[in-house]
Amino acid sequence: MKKRILTGARPTGHLHLGHYVGTLENRVQFQDDYETFIMIADVQALTDNFDDPEKVSKNTLQVLQDNLAVGLDPKKVTFLLQSAIPQIAELTIYYANLVTIARLERNPTVKDEIKEKQKFNEGVPLGFLMYPVSQAADITIFKANLVPVGEDQLPHIEQTREIVRKFNSVYGEVFPVPEAKVGETARLVGLDNNSKMGKSLNNAIFLDDDAETVRAKIMSMYTDPNRIRATDPGRVEGNPVFIYHDIFNSNKAEVEDLKNRYVKGQVGDIEVKQKLVVAINSFLDPVRERRKLYEDKDLLLDILKFGTNRAREIAAETLHEVKTAMKLFDI
Ligand code: ATP
Ligand code: MG
Repeated sequence: MKKRILTGARPTGHLHLGHYVGTLENRVQFQDDYETFIMIADVQALTDNFDDPEKVSKNTLQVLQDNLAVGLDPKKVTFLLQSAIPQIAELTIYYANLVTIARLERNPTVKDEIKEKQKFNEGVPLGFLMYPVSQAADITIFKANLVPVGEDQLPHIEQTREIVRKFNSVYGEVFPVPEAKVGETARLVGLDNNSKMGKSLNNAIFLDDDAETVRAKIMSMYTDPNRIRATDPGRVEGNPVFIYHDIFNSNKAEVEDLKNRYVKGQVGDIEVKQKLVVAINSFLDPVRERRKLYEDKDLLLDILKFGTNRAREIAAETLHEVKTAMKLFDI
């Protein structure tokens, strides 16, 4: 039997290059070797967007389409909608007994996210604080072994592992302890040099940006702030333009040449950026082509329904095992 993958994205916006290097690339690479489940995490998206349900529903098929556009094959992969699997909510309630409030408050990603969200100034909703518990249920209801994610998710996977160990020791072995798998670039910087390219931070190149949008974004992106003239020696390390070149430009000789000239003050930012525009557009071209196969809303909905139905059956089986282990009357 193949090992399983569960991972997903919140339908809060279009997916971007950060998602690609953090998790999508691994999903594509592993889809043949693992039985793969990709979740559209609409329930989790509501934990900080409960007052904007339109946003979540508008992005549900968008996120599915982005996943298909990078090369995930709906014949191999099960796509599922979180809110349509009630067994996840049920398992979340059982897990809520296995974790303390103090432990949730110590989660560094949750802490950072709370700080970023001004609307939580007055208080943090219980649903938001415990979304890592719900995420533990997402992963384990499918008995996933591997979770391909970006770096910001590592504390959540650790939390899941703790919950699984606790469950297995209190009620008996039901779940495998899952492993995280981060992409080669665990956290991609934003166009503005923010440490994370983000869906709603206005610093992203989206997978569905057209060639002209990509050009405009790159030409105005952040480089080395201390470099005023093309003849000033520039800094390559930590410079987002070169970080992107390293990842997305397949012409390694060109990248080396640009770097050599940049540190000597022999090349302007414009040339470096123009070459990056070409590299990123060639990287995105096949994604754009594949996207055209999945423009039809009914087709997307069919893919999601088909996968969700299959996922629900597996979730029901796991929940039966859970209830039996917990000595609940499963009647
Ligand atoms: P939100 O702000 O709504 O949380 P997000 O951009 O963080 O949006 P998620 O849906 O939470 O997106 O994350 C989906 C996956 O993509 C996660 O595994 C996350 O770690 C990864 N990811 C998101 N942004 C980046 C990035 N800049 N670099 C690497 N991985 C990323
Ligand atoms: Mg996130």
